Amino acid sequence: MTTIFTAPNHKVAIVTGGARGIGAAIATRLAADGHHVAVFDLDADACAETVERIETAGRRALALAVDVSNEDAVVAGVARVAEELGAPTVLVNNAGILRDRTLAKMTLDDWEVVMAVNLRSVFLMCRAVQPHMRSARWGRIVNLSSTAALGVIGESNYSAAKAGVQGITRTLAIELGRHGITVNAVAPGFVVTDMTRAVAARMNMPFEDMVTDMMTGIYVGRPGVPDDIAQAVAFFTDERSGFVTGQVLYVAGAPRA
Ligand code: NAP
Repeated sequence: MTTIFTAPNHKVAIVTGGARGIGAAIATRLAADGHHVAVFDLDADACAETVERIETAGRRALALAVDVSNEDAVVAGVARVAEELGAPTVLVNNAGILRDRTLAKMTLDDWEVVMAVNLRSVFLMCRAVQPHMRSARWGRIVNLSSTAALGVIGESNYSAAKAGVQGITRTLAIELGRHGITVNAVAPGFVVTDMTRAVAARMNMPFEDMVTDMMTGIYVGRPGVPDDIAQAVAFFTDERSGFVTGQVLYVAGAPRA
């Protein structure tokens, strides 16, 4: 038997960590592609520029202060989106943090906070949004993994979380496919954002030197920019991508990392 899943007329997306960097580029791209967009970030005021870009694209925007690792905040945030913009049927789990240290120096707090923001959040957000997608019999979930899932020195916490993101992506693809919901992951390599600038600063390294170092593993002649990742997310959220689910797309200017 064949089931046809049809996208709703007015698509409402939630992008977490959308105040800046990759999340801001994704929110802007989804607006350009016709979505109203809710942006979740720690500080709603920090989302002002993203909101302006969404509205400039002619779509409605809603910025909410939501710590995506907090269950109550996630449930309340998703409920507000449903009330104010309509049922969310596109979710991009982008919020993420680093707390890099090699194993001997890594504290339990470094481990817990990275797992909470990068991985627990994906579970909480997907669980809160899925009733809306199931009612609509249509949904698109895209989770941000990383080439760090393959292993990076000083990132045992982050690497484990980003590998976990790939696991939950595949499992939810299996569980939710029959409801018309696809679940995929984008795994960026080196992308120029505040996150990578902060890594260079912590290493007391000029950012330009870090870019030069990273270029040895990149074959397209330039580092990644947030729009490169937004482009991959836009493919997965597209209505016409309904036969693609449970995939991890490495976007790294190289075959993998
Ligand atoms: P970024 O510039 O550091 O931006 C991350 C955003 O997430 C910030 O606005 C941050 O808010 C927000 N955030 C942090 N914790 C949050 C929480 N608990 N609840 C809600 N929002 C929270 O990072 P990015 O480079 O754009 O990275 C975006 C995603 O791509 C992350 O998942 C990252 O792991 C992944 N990624 C990035 C790269 C890269 O090279 N940049 C590579 C691979 C994967 P504050 O500003 O208030 O902290």
